Amino acid sequence: MKKMFDRLALSLLPLPLLMAAAPPSYPEKLRDETLAGDAVAWDIVEDLTTEIGPRLAGTEAEARARQWAVKRLKALGFHNVHIEDATMATWVRGAETAEIVSPFPQPIVVTALGGSGATPPEGVTAQVVGFDSIDALRAAPAEAVRGKIVFVSHAMQPNQDGSGYGYYGAVRRSAPAVGTQKGAVAVIIRSLGTDYHRNPHTGLTSWNGVAPIAAGALPIPDAENLERMLKRSRNVTMHITLTPRFVGNTATGNVIADVPGTDPDAGMILVGGHLDSWDLGTGAIDDASGVAIVTAAAKKIMEAGRPRRTIRVIWFGDEETGGAGSRAYFATHKTDNVVFVGESDFGADRVWRYVSGFAPANKPLDDRIAAALFPLGINRDKGEVEAGADLGAWIHAGSPGADLGQDGTRYFDYHHTPDDTLDKVDPKQLRQNVAAWTAMLSLVANAPEKIEKLPPRPERRQ
Ligand code: ZN
Ligand code: ZN
Repeated sequence: MKKMFDRLALSLLPLPLLMAAAPPSYPEKLRDETLAGDAVAWDIVEDLTTEIGPRLAGTEAEARARQWAVKRLKALGFHNVHIEDATMATWVRGAETAEIVSPFPQPIVVTALGGSGATPPEGVTAQVVGFDSIDALRAAPAEAVRGKIVFVSHAMQPNQDGSGYGYYGAVRRSAPAVGTQKGAVAVIIRSLGTDYHRNPHTGLTSWNGVAPIAAGALPIPDAENLERMLKRSRNVTMHITLTPRFVGNTATGNVIADVPGTDPDAGMILVGGHLDSWDLGTGAIDDASGVAIVTAAAKKIMEAGRPRRTIRVIWFGDEETGGAGSRAYFATHKTDNVVFVGESDFGADRVWRYVSGFAPANKPLDDRIAAALFPLGINRDKGEVEAGADLGAWIHAGSPGADLGQDGTRYFDYHHTPDDTLDKVDPKQLRQNVAAWTAMLSLVANAPEKIEKLPPRPERRQ
């Protein structure tokens, strides 16, 4: 019924009003062109995952990826393309096997968490003690854990904003250190994921000064199988071998590329993602897509003519295993006049919300961005802008910025697994990302008004 009234109302409008729509202005035109046909982002994701593949931080593969990135960014026409070196303590995977010895002997799948210590080469055999949360492990007396293999479960669910990762992520980040302090011989967790593939999800664990022991993740089907065994028997014994190691300090680095602006006094814009990936997959959604999205948007703006503000694109090194790249960049550049930052590191599914952090004086710019995102189906949302692991430090230091939040419903089906591969990227949704970034960046880069800084904000601890 309502539709009919709408049609009736439209038909009653005087014709000149319908035809009076202004020609699309600059950001809208660039937005619509990228939405219809951007190929820059897809080509970066396809070529990087094909020609380099996995690129674990600090390894020779990450170094090859940096050289690849320099070549690609120069070929795309960016200015001042260069690498800024950093060093990091580099961790590499070793052997990883596990099996239930008794009472239900069978192999299970396991992968080491980033930063894991090692078992002896022949592995360890011990009784498994299970906890359904990290809080239950924290509350357990040390004698319940000492000499055992600790297993910690959780109930992370898929959701659009991906917030379950922050909350349930404590299991991966902290359970190994907690178990170690209570005398465990190894700690294994239910993967921080939402799929039922037989793929374990790796990811960094934090030791906080505790000497690392073997720490691994089981795929969800294997974790649930172990839970069933623990319900049937008080004496489940497992043999596990994990032999990753730290190989000492090696090189990492950030790859920088600029779109030079006309007005150096107007401040600069930083956008980025990370070039490194975990070693299990080819890092298509984490984070070839992120660097591809921001790069394609910056290139689109560059092609349309020189913007007022310099846009710097940064492909960070070592986001996954400790953040040496972002720390080095912030330490070197913290006195730069950065007036806007944005990070893309949550896959390539469509952007559904815009969360901004501008000073009150810049509300008109904020409003113009929201209006340009509106036709892409992007909600303007409340909340604090975060950027991410690579650029969050700038937000905390008082730079304005914005998050273009992607749909995270299926992100944790693939995140940090062997399944993070090109076929998981939907070209249409990738283009919607590029269109959103193009609209936002062209408005910020060319805003005629001054972009004001904000008061510094303390880092939030999880
Ligand atoms: Zn990651
Ligand atoms: Zn990432």
